[in-house]
Amino acid sequence: MMPAMRPVIIAANWKMHTVPSEAAELATTIAGRTAEPDVIRIICPPFVALAAVRDALAGTGVAVGAQNVHHERTGAFTGEVSAPMLDGLATWVIAGHSERRRDACETDQQINGKIRRAQEAGLAIILCVGEQLAERESGRAEAAVRTQLAGALAGMDPLSPAGAEERGLAIAYEPVWAIGTGRNASGADAAAMAGVIRESLHGLGFGGRGEAVPVLYGGSVTAANIGEFLTEPAIDGALVGGASLKPDEMAGIVARAGVTARARAAVAS
Ligand code: PEP
Repeated sequence: MMPAMRPVIIAANWKMHTVPSEAAELATTIAGRTAEPDVIRIICPPFVALAAVRDALAGTGVAVGAQNVHHERTGAFTGEVSAPMLDGLATWVIAGHSERRRDACETDQQINGKIRRAQEAGLAIILCVGEQLAERESGRAEAAVRTQLAGALAGMDPLSPAGAEERGLAIAYEPVWAIGTGRNASGADAAAMAGVIRESLHGLGFGGRGEAVPVLYGGSVTAANIGEFLTEPAIDGALVGGASLKPDEMAGIVARAGVTARARAAVAS
């Protein structure tokens, strides 16, 4: 299937930055400077800023995402946030970010639960996968990503009740060594891994619908290097961390994404 069939997505992961008042102001600024109707824009602030950012973004077309969700629906899990609790606050959620795999020791099995709970709650998902530096250097990057995908998506029936597209699933390929380091993967390497991801989705039962799943790149994306990724037809956007807190960077990143989105639309029409 032509990449023109897939949307272009720029998602901002603000991590543990901004108090609610700062978040609302920053969201308003970024929304105003990234008015690209052809690009799906998502801002993922900290949990405590979700309501403020939702209110700030009302009517702008920018979606709100949560940075995490618990793998159980309810229960004795102090300090956690369940998928039903996000109702009315967010329409997207990030699952399996490498900082949570590292700091909260999240397993692929738990990430599988997060995705199930998010889908039950009608949330669209950005599933993060990516290899460690040692895995890349020893030639095990593809195997690591395949294992993460198989674990996170195990037992899911992507063909029912609706296809992957309708279910709102995007995969973010984020090599761990590139996150927050200023050292990004090359566009060619990211595109090669996007191919591996789609092949894996096919093998996991998505069939041809795997082609409809957007694959984003994440890892030290900036306005200066986003073009390297978006010129790759296999890459459908970016999950942006550090640069997403800077309106100038976001303006440049989304403007470049708009070029790709319009080019795809032109090919499709
Ligand atoms: C991220 O948080 O997912 C990320 C890619 O961060 P950064 O852009 O700062 O590398």
